[in-house]
Amino acid sequence: MSGVTVVDHPLVARHLSVLRDRATPSSDFRRRLSDISMLLLFEALRDLRVREDQLETPLETTGGMRLADEIVVIAILRAGLGMTDGALRLIPEARVGHLGLYRDEESLQPVGYYESIPRHAADAEVVVVDPMLATGGSALSALDRLKPDVGGRLRLVCLVAAPEGIAVVQDAHPDVPIFCAAIDRRLDERGYIRPGLGDAGDRIFGTE
Ligand code: URA
Repeated sequence: MSGVTVVDHPLVARHLSVLRDRATPSSDFRRRLSDISMLLLFEALRDLRVREDQLETPLETTGGMRLADEIVVIAILRAGLGMTDGALRLIPEARVGHLGLYRDEESLQPVGYYESIPRHAADAEVVVVDPMLATGGSALSALDRLKPDVGGRLRLVCLVAAPEGIAVVQDAHPDVPIFCAAIDRRLDERGYIRPGLGDAGDRIFGTE
């Protein structure tokens, strides 16, 4: 699917299987989600710009490199919080913003209730993280909110995507690349991704 990268790696597939398993307790779920988030962001950030640099090893001067741009990770609350730890392990210097969106149970549409966007986002590479791309409503709201400030340096990283959610995001933001571990079959009538892994927020925080 154009514009969508399914990160194809045995370790990603193994982590995802454990995350899907209903028997996986929240403690393991959080750790696995953190680990798989590192792998997904690693792939999503493959084309980061770099700047050459000089540094001193204990023995001599040599060429090195540094990232040319700041990285801002925007977590869509609440499930996106489960991906920020992995993102920060991968990129310790990243700044983290939050967008609070909850899904209205009836309309399934996102409702905004909190926003904290680092002011550096306007000049940074910005990665929006949310484990489940389901209806696409939250991702769409987040991208609509960020696009005027950030322009073309946005990427969306999720764990599991539904075809319906991908279509919604791509219709409105065809320039935003999407990275995920799997594209699942469909959304059900309650807006859950099938086969999916259930409610990611509940699984992370043990609120089932
Ligand atoms: N949000 C979730 O956490 N899980 C789904 O399956 C769909 C939306």
